[in-house]
Amino acid sequence: MTVPNVRLSSGHDMPIFGLGTWQSKPGEVGAAIKIAIEAGYRHFDCAFAYQNQKEIGEVLAELFSSGKVKREEIFITSKIWNTFHSLGQARKNVDMILEELKLEYIDLLLIHWPQGYEEGGEIFPLGENNKMRYSNEDYLDTWKALEEAHNNGKVRSIGISNFNHKQIERLWNAASVKPSVLQIEMHPFFNQEKLRKFCAQKNIAVTAYSPLGNPGSAFFRKSGDPDVLSNEVIAEIAKKHGKTNAQVVLRWFIEHGVIVIPKSTSEARIKQNINIFDFKLNDDEIKKIDAQNKNWRLVDPTPRDGDHPHF
Ligand code: NAP
Repeated sequence: MTVPNVRLSSGHDMPIFGLGTWQSKPGEVGAAIKIAIEAGYRHFDCAFAYQNQKEIGEVLAELFSSGKVKREEIFITSKIWNTFHSLGQARKNVDMILEELKLEYIDLLLIHWPQGYEEGGEIFPLGENNKMRYSNEDYLDTWKALEEAHNNGKVRSIGISNFNHKQIERLWNAASVKPSVLQIEMHPFFNQEKLRKFCAQKNIAVTAYSPLGNPGSAFFRKSGDPDVLSNEVIAEIAKKHGKTNAQVVLRWFIEHGVIVIPKSTSEARIKQNINIFDFKLNDDEIKKIDAQNKNWRLVDPTPRDGDHPHF
């Protein structure tokens, strides 16, 4: 199975398809990586906040030392977490990520969210009444740490996640190394047409997260939320191609030139999800799926507890 690459503005190639690892439990994530490598995956989407990078690092080290795959054949993305937004903390987080993943360089490092949280030990520093303790650290300072890591070879390409037009423009104007990638929520019910056009003008590649609408997540899903995988238009197209609804959704991203990173820890679904490079959707089918957009998003990016200076 050969997965095509997207050439990033940094000059590096990124596989258009990879494995997500959010909510992949320690004890399961390592096995998922091994199954994925066997199935042909060469791109893994990680983050400090997922708290499973240590196990991923151990499995990668094992795979490299056994000669199963070479480091240069693998593309690893990770993300600086919100509690590390000051320049000093972001520098520290880069090194923590390298250590956890047991890597000498990361292929792509993103700022996970534009809003910083109060620095300290907890991933989600909650205060009174479960309110998020935001910090006023500016993502432009976080970006400086990413530029440094890029310039000293710890990171090959740098980018952002969950940034809106306004935040991207502000970062763009201040950056000496421009972002290569924006990672955002995207699926047929939230197709991000406007933001994708804006990114195309700036040669920023787009990665779609929650591409299946994260059907299994209790973290963001509310009862009554729509289900991408039971959409009738998608089901009809899937039947015609002899593919599953998930495979048609994942192929739709490829047709749009969008990088896609479905998460699974199930052997059958890991194998199913990458099996999308032996068929194509025609223009009519792509348009029909585009028309399913309902501006429904799983993840609300607005600061949940009031205004934030950098939103
Ligand atoms: P997703 O990939 O849309 O959905 C994952 C869920 O779908 C899991 O419950 C998985 O269960 C199930 N699934 C996978 N393949 C399936 C198939 N073929 N048929 C039916 N169900 C299937 O959602 P996501 O995990 O939110 O997004 C993907 C990745 O994007 C994440 O893992 C993470 O790496 C990244 N992400 C980034 C951000 C950000 O803020 N930058 C936010 C969210 C996600 P099984 O494991 O049991 O198969």
